[in-house]
Amino acid sequence: KSLPIGDPIKTSQIIHDYGLRAKKSLGQNFLTDLNVLENIVESAEITPEDQVLEVGPGIGSITQQLAETGCKVVSFEIDQRFITVLDDVLSEYDNVAIINQDVLKADLDKELSVYFDLDKPIKIVANLPYYITTPIMFKLLESRLKLTSMTVLMQKEVADRIVANHGSKNWGPLSIAVQMVGDPEISFAVPPKSFNPAPKVTSAILNLRLTGNKYQDVIFDHQLFDQVVNAGFKQRRKTIYNNLKQAFGAKGKSPEDIKLILKNANIPENYRAEQLTINDFIRLTNCVQLR
Ligand code: SAM
Repeated sequence: KSLPIGDPIKTSQIIHDYGLRAKKSLGQNFLTDLNVLENIVESAEITPEDQVLEVGPGIGSITQQLAETGCKVVSFEIDQRFITVLDDVLSEYDNVAIINQDVLKADLDKELSVYFDLDKPIKIVANLPYYITTPIMFKLLESRLKLTSMTVLMQKEVADRIVANHGSKNWGPLSIAVQMVGDPEISFAVPPKSFNPAPKVTSAILNLRLTGNKYQDVIFDHQLFDQVVNAGFKQRRKTIYNNLKQAFGAKGKSPEDIKLILKNANIPENYRAEQLTINDFIRLTNCVQLR
């Protein structure tokens, strides 16, 4: 049996044989570390019954490992050049489908319904293009797909923000948005040398178990919640009072209104957003609205 695609020698060979040149603009860094590949599939706990959605298969290193488990894999790849390559290198697997589309523009329900039973759970596994990590995550999280987990390689700096706790400098709108719908964990860090070409930054595998929105019923106005969170973190070094005064002043709230809102929510005026928990932001939102 030939070397797996993710073997560094095999990857170089494919790149050479097909005359490929990684496009920086598309965030192309091929994973060439068999330990990391194994770990990704292991931490995603893939079984033959699983339906797995991959974004950006590249030349198929992760796709192949997924296919080997016997699960069903559907991968969205934007780069036309890889479609022929994937056809060749994955020809022995009949449980893989490649869709040559920009995942951000794709109609996921429509495309996936061809291959998956959309009433059943779907897992996400991907080495994401780093320049659009958060837009892809949000598109998937906001979709109507029944996602149960995401196991994704991303810039470690972004993963650190996702798993941060309140009180840390990394705590912010991204941590809040993700932690409201799931339980994220960093499985492990991945150094630049595990990729070809090597990226400039350290990466990490983020494991996100999805629970559905845990706060669905206690937030009166979800749009307002997002506004309050974003306003609160607008200028991190400013107090929550100053940031809210700035944002909601334009919406007709006087400084006295803001003080009263904070008092009702039981949040000291001199706190910074960094110190506030998700529940603090929820009380704050509900107090803004109740007035
Ligand atoms: N999975 C491969 C691996 O681990 O070796 C490649 C990962 S590489 C970091 C990201 C992949 O996402 C590239 O193949 C790139 O062409 C693809 N990509 C970039 N933007 C995309 C988009 N908007 N939709 C779908 N795929 C995209």
